[in-house]
Amino acid sequence: MSYSQKISDPRFDQYLKNTRDYRYQFGFILTIVAVVGFYIYGETSSDMDNPEALHIGLGIGGMFFLIGLYAAFSGKKNAPTWDGEVVEKEIVKKNGRTYFVVYFENEKGNRHEISAEKDPTLYDYYKIGEKVRYHGKLKSYEKFDKSHDDIIFCNACAFMHDMEEHICQNCGCPLLK
Ligand SMILES: [Zn+2]
Repeated sequence: MSYSQKISDPRFDQYLKNTRDYRYQFGFILTIVAVVGFYIYGETSSDMDNPEALHIGLGIGGMFFLIGLYAAFSGKKNAPTWDGEVVEKEIVKKNGRTYFVVYFENEKGNRHEISAEKDPTLYDYYKIGEKVRYHGKLKSYEKFDKSHDDIIFCNACAFMHDMEEHICQNCGCPLLK
């Protein structure tokens, strides 16, 4: 029973870096598509000519580029890691939808929640009174006591695994156990 030492494994940092790179590249590709797309539109359509179409393409492309940059950068800022516990669970029915909500409270008394629509897996996974650690850089929770569990979630990509596993099949990060 403990929090896993594997949190310092370099594969987590590699995973985060890959995610940032992917967001950045995705924004860059959308930028190119917008600029080239509008340019071709300006050349071929009778509705709009270049450079007007190209200017619109540059405007929209620039926006995609900034969004990609923002997504990559905002992921880099590490939220703090804190210890807390499960304080409340609730099934909320709203507008004909069902949400399974788990509430955590940290040492400073701040509340955090996770909510899943339709899916009670996490709701069942966490028991009231259990100690948890929130890993800021991975934005996910780790239970202190995993000894009664049959399943475990990857703290990097949230992929669910059998307790016997050691490495995430989805992203290659070690499972925190
Ligand atoms: Zn994973």
